[in-house]
Amino acid sequence: MRDVLLWPEPVEAAGTMGRPQARGRFGEYGGRYAPESLVEACREVDEAFREAWADPGFRGALARLLAVHAGRPTPLTPARRLSEALGVQLYLKREDLTHTGSHKINNVLGQALLATRMGRRRLIAETGAGQHGVATATAAALLGLEATVFMGERDIERQALNVFRMRMLGAEVIPVTTGSRTLKDATSEAMRHWVGATGDSHYCVGSVVGPDPYPWMVREFQRVIGDEARVQCAAELRTGVPDHVVACVGGGSNAAGTFAGFADTPARLVGVEAEGGAGAARGRLGVLHGCRSLFLQDDDGQITQAHSIAAGLDYPGVGPEHAHLRDLGRARYVTVTDDEAVGAAVRLARTEGIVPALESAHALAWVIRATGGGELPAGSTVLMTLSGRGDKDVSTLKELL
Ligand SMILES: *Cc1c(COP(=O)(O)O)cnc(C)c1O
Repeated sequence: MRDVLLWPEPVEAAGTMGRPQARGRFGEYGGRYAPESLVEACREVDEAFREAWADPGFRGALARLLAVHAGRPTPLTPARRLSEALGVQLYLKREDLTHTGSHKINNVLGQALLATRMGRRRLIAETGAGQHGVATATAAALLGLEATVFMGERDIERQALNVFRMRMLGAEVIPVTTGSRTLKDATSEAMRHWVGATGDSHYCVGSVVGPDPYPWMVREFQRVIGDEARVQCAAELRTGVPDHVVACVGGGSNAAGTFAGFADTPARLVGVEAEGGAGAARGRLGVLHGCRSLFLQDDDGQITQAHSIAAGLDYPGVGPEHAHLRDLGRARYVTVTDDEAVGAAVRLARTEGIVPALESAHALAWVIRATGGGELPAGSTVLMTLSGRGDKDVSTLKELL
């Protein structure tokens, strides 16, 4: 594995959530650490994405897909009763109301459309709990592509319903039997498989991780969250821009997309990680799945297993741009326990009539704690991205409540 210098792009300002610097870097993070054949495949994706993103035809086609198929724009909902109890003004960006029930659809529709433009006929994806796999299978069916989804054997046992959903949507689900038989191994296997299939397949990465251009490209496909919210806040809030912008962080895609809409404002950006998956808050510099970033590691530098009640936060690292935003002090990263997240989920259900995904409940748990602890002063305005709906988590919650 080595980092090959194939970046033609001039250096741009970093830290403003613009394009990455030369060689796909966000500060000292990012890059393209991949075998030769994948470096070439990444270069092709990079070139195709740059062209497509500058093409109003592509932008228009994607905007239409997001509108007529995914249900965008999603509403900005004032959480009235909860706000009153907390003494702040909390607004929820409702990604839970998109088709398939989370923000993941924004990214997969973008990548599926790009794959079509590149003449690819198949999408390859990795999945942990199955959320990204289901979204990929959905986008593939919609655009007439095939989908091959790699999933750890243990996750297949734990997430039978999503496995069925993917197969129902026509995707092939391939069990991964190596290592811990979970997401990390499924990702390695998907990348290995792509090596032999770059000619006809696009690798659809599920978060702002992986080799350049994925962290940047996925953030741009998720930027729609932040861009919409920016306009909605301008119309809804007296101050125009919220004091705080909060989102949960697994790999970091819903947070990056949200932050991108507010990077040039005075809003304070807060990423909330699971206590057991705190790549940004507690990770160390390393290289995994094609990029340099912060990962949970043991003393020998081995990447360790993440643990969270929220499957989407169960990734041992964080996207390179978040690592950079942390270093710059532009965003801060905090952690929340499983118990706090479950408590927050129940509270949102009972005050606002919304059952959130356990991932999103982490973001809310921090808001609740921060209002009590004075980090969020009375009267603050808070925008929080509600990344997904809780239907997938009801059996987990049922065991606990
Ligand atoms: C996958 C997922 C996440 C975590 O992924 P990010 O890339 O960090 O956004 C968060 N919330 C939901 C509902 C998810 O499905």
